[in-house]
Amino acid sequence: MRRKIVAGNWKMNLTFPQARELALHLNTWVNAHKPNAEIIIAPTHLYLEQLNKDLKNSRIRVASQNVSAMENGAYTGDVSAEQLLSIGTKISIVGHSERRAYHHEVDKYIGMKISHLYKKGMSPILCVGEKLEDRESGKHFDVVKEQLNIALERQNPEDLLRDFIVAYEPVWAIGTGKTASPDQAQEMHDFIRKTIGNQHGLAVANATSILYGGSVNAGNARDLFEQYDIDGALVGGASLKLEDFTTIINARG
Ligand code: PGA
Repeated sequence: MRRKIVAGNWKMNLTFPQARELALHLNTWVNAHKPNAEIIIAPTHLYLEQLNKDLKNSRIRVASQNVSAMENGAYTGDVSAEQLLSIGTKISIVGHSERRAYHHEVDKYIGMKISHLYKKGMSPILCVGEKLEDRESGKHFDVVKEQLNIALERQNPEDLLRDFIVAYEPVWAIGTGKTASPDQAQEMHDFIRKTIGNQHGLAVANATSILYGGSVNAGNARDLFEQYDIDGALVGGASLKLEDFTTIINARG
């Protein structure tokens, strides 16, 4: 039931021509190799409209990196779920640690973002993960549990059952070259699934795809994917290089 997914978070990288070129090459590769895994790419908001057109008949889904917690209105610089949907975007990352760190996003707002997405028939990729000091002080499970419980407390199990993706991204592993070991990641993924199960029931827990993120690369992906509760990856740096990203997709099988 759980879908295998490899998602690329392009962050604030690539010019418009570079982004189109990478997306088109990736699409050509996907058409030729027909991977089992679902493929998602998340370019900057600016390019969503064009990439949605370029990939209209493709198996690649194009995601937003963020969405506003508010409805439309006086929120300068923000982008609403409705606006994203109006250019064909149906899925958005929410709660990425870089948003939490640089834009002070808190779990309650992240929960509001998820509610807006579901209200529009869209869906979220919810990022959770502890900081280094949380892990060193043994609080990593508590931190992740709180992130999940607050962000999901108002969600409807039917929405979550339809399409819900979680990405476990320990902050100390993002962009650092330091990956969680397969055992560390498996332990947390199992905990995340149980936490979701306690809150929303077993059916939701078993339908949720849980991706690992944090310095995933062509060399370490396979060992991570061998873990029972790791359904795929959310890839930052390595998603910008076609060869690395496609190696990771192949590893997912
Ligand atoms: P990274 O980023 O693969 O470059 O560590 C992952 C992410 O932030 O989603």
